[in-house]
Amino acid sequence: MPEEADIQRCFATEYVTARQRLLDRAEKMELDVETMAISEKGPHEETLSTDVVWIGPSDASKLILHTSGVHGVEGFPGSAAAMWIMDGIKARELKLPDDCAIIFAHIINPWGMAWLRRVNEDNADLNRNFLPPGEVYEGEPENYARLDHLLNPKGMKKSREYYSIKAAWHAFRLGFTNAKQAVQEGQYTRPTSLQFGGSKLAESSQNFIDWCERRLTNAEQIVWIDFHTGLGPFGVDSLLVAEGADEAGLKECYGKRIQPLDPEKGVAYKIRGGIQAGIEARFPDKVWTSITQEFGTIKPIPLLKLARAENRATQWSGKPPLRLLQSRERRDMLNAFNPRSMKWRRMILQRSRAIIEDAIAHLSEE
Ligand SMILES: [Zn+2]
Repeated sequence: MPEEADIQRCFATEYVTARQRLLDRAEKMELDVETMAISEKGPHEETLSTDVVWIGPSDASKLILHTSGVHGVEGFPGSAAAMWIMDGIKARELKLPDDCAIIFAHIINPWGMAWLRRVNEDNADLNRNFLPPGEVYEGEPENYARLDHLLNPKGMKKSREYYSIKAAWHAFRLGFTNAKQAVQEGQYTRPTSLQFGGSKLAESSQNFIDWCERRLTNAEQIVWIDFHTGLGPFGVDSLLVAEGADEAGLKECYGKRIQPLDPEKGVAYKIRGGIQAGIEARFPDKVWTSITQEFGTIKPIPLLKLARAENRATQWSGKPPLRLLQSRERRDMLNAFNPRSMKWRRMILQRSRAIIEDAIAHLSEE
């Protein structure tokens, strides 16, 4: 069980320190780091990059892939999870079977983490940006237009809004499941609005795809854990898998937390352009077990309210980047996706390591 000192050691308060902690651990463990930088810089003019650490044989046919920070600000707990798993490997509390490697792709959306947003430098949600090859960056969910004025006010002038009441009313009118689906699926028509999936493949998405091209050549079987926060009960993880996945088989390995990406059946919803589906489509010859590990923080409507306020301030307040970074709206995002509660943080670290144990058991069975 992680002690308070472990929690302090794993959770960083800035992107630069999180990255440095990864580099320090890699150095101590004599591991190479592949750094894939993007063009944009962080608030200290620092390089922003996805950094990849590979532990185990470089030609392993079985891989455990751990990705974090697809949604920028969620990279704070995501990075902490990666640190805690790495510490477990270093201490030999986690042992990989022969012919198996574990890879940490640390912060897929470094711009978002550094600037405390979920989205990237183009206001794009990277978990809506990995459209399969051939699919065009167009379209929006059926009901998005009905919700747009509510989700995306075009200015800062505050009228009497009663946002929560209105949101609840709309959710009620459409049915909560339909509203959730319309809001969250991903849209490719409104670049300043919420859940924009981008107008093309983002630089950091391309970096990750290029890395897969280079490094997945020997891999046959890959268990992929993509770390997220913001959905579900406080501190509890839901393990989201694609619709049509072998739910029963997965439950045997990973327990009853497994649930399909289906708005009728759980906390989640169907999405377009998800990173896992997008990578699987590009590497169809691998045996993939792709799991989105989603840890709950606060409830969906308050969370949506914060995301709305933050996007509004970013798009319409006219504040320069550093003032936006210090704004209440950005701090609220950080606290909503990376709660300070020690209890929450301990739960996150524990379960982050536990799922790796399950993945190791899964890859050890023959
Ligand atoms: Zn997320």
